[in-house]
Amino acid sequence: MHPAPLVGIRVAPPLRFLSPTKLRTYATCPLQYRHRYVDRLESPYTPASLVGQAIHETLEANFRAKKHTRRDLPTFEAQEIFDRVWERHAPGPADAADPDDPWEAAYESGRSALEHYLTEAAAALVPHLVEHRFRFTIPSVPWPVVGTVDLVDHNGTVIDFKTSRRPYHASYLDGDLQLMCYAIGYAAFRAGSRVRPGELPSPYFIPDVRVDVLVIGDPPSVQRLEARYDREALREFGERAASIALGIQDEQFEAFWRAPDAAEDANVCRRCSYVDRCPDALVSADELLKADGEDGDQEE
Ligand code: SF4
Repeated sequence: MHPAPLVGIRVAPPLRFLSPTKLRTYATCPLQYRHRYVDRLESPYTPASLVGQAIHETLEANFRAKKHTRRDLPTFEAQEIFDRVWERHAPGPADAADPDDPWEAAYESGRSALEHYLTEAAAALVPHLVEHRFRFTIPSVPWPVVGTVDLVDHNGTVIDFKTSRRPYHASYLDGDLQLMCYAIGYAAFRAGSRVRPGELPSPYFIPDVRVDVLVIGDPPSVQRLEARYDREALREFGERAASIALGIQDEQFEAFWRAPDAAEDANVCRRCSYVDRCPDALVSADELLKADGEDGDQEE
């Protein structure tokens, strides 16, 4: 049994495909998956998640242009793109100069992190593919995985961008389903017809992966994490994905902490978009530290 749906639900269409975000959401908390993809609850932007979105869209525009010009955008042009995204989604005007307003503080720190990345880190990147769509299949999983890789550089490295108020743990990439999907997706694209339907591509085709974390702070910084997935990592990925697909098929949508031997980690809930409405949340609305956790992933 899972909890009754929350108010304000919309009816979800039948599942046609999985995405890196769907896999990661279910792996984080099956109930979060239900809120997002079954009950389709809206999750309004927070200051932190809007910073992530605005930086993501700006970097996408930068690398799309750079693919042709071989130059990063001038700072003022990049900031105009950031501002357009911000103004589309933020609750008030971005120039309301109130230092205690969390939206204003997020706006300033986001712009600063973007400028730092473009002046200090972006120059070394030579884009080969930008926002590249992929599709692959997994043994024993009834749906294909469809998604978009942020960037593939000229060396064939798959690169993803994140924003965070703190550096990621050094082992972040070891078991990250999303980056694994990107690596496999690009490998399937490279391998083409050499991948048999229903199978994962050979490790030979799996590219290096890298995540650039734009750490929001004063001063901002960039953390780079790199990995390469081997045959064993692919096998583990296939097993985890098959187990998640089974859970979705069987409508197993209990909160993560209700699983046998699971820890009651309130930080998982603090980073969840539904924490203020979820009946199984491990934190009260008063305790929320939303500005700390969310990043700018795109829905795939
Ligand atoms: S608030 Fe916690 S228990 Fe509820 S969906 Fe989010 S992560 Fe899961």
